[in-house]
Amino acid sequence: MGILEPGIDHKCPQCESLDTVCEIYEDSFQFGAQDDDPDSTANVPLITVDVPLYRCINANCGFEWFDWKAETIKDAAVREHLLKIKVAIQDEQIIILNKALDDIEARCDELISKGPNKYVQ
Ligand SMILES: [Zn+2]
Repeated sequence: MGILEPGIDHKCPQCESLDTVCEIYEDSFQFGAQDDDPDSTANVPLITVDVPLYRCINANCGFEWFDWKAETIKDAAVREHLLKIKVAIQDEQIIILNKALDDIEARCDELISKGPNKYVQ
């Protein structure tokens, strides 16, 4: 869990104190929602990820922030989400293609069963 370790680079951007802690924060966001269509958000799945949240424990500050790691983790979650959609679409296409092939095969069997020249005008 090296990505979640606090360190010297986790200086508070507000007061520059090095007294900071790192917590795991469960962040949820919708990916693919269209802002101009309120109905579209209803069907957009929520992506939930654990990201590092930094907090300044300087009593006079208390600033909280995310760094690039949170963005990297969210980006990976979006990629994984898109990959799942891609696989689901491919599975659906395979089912449709198999159905089409079955229909063609059934039609061929039907024509062949009629014998030669029965279907040629
Ligand atoms: Zn601070």
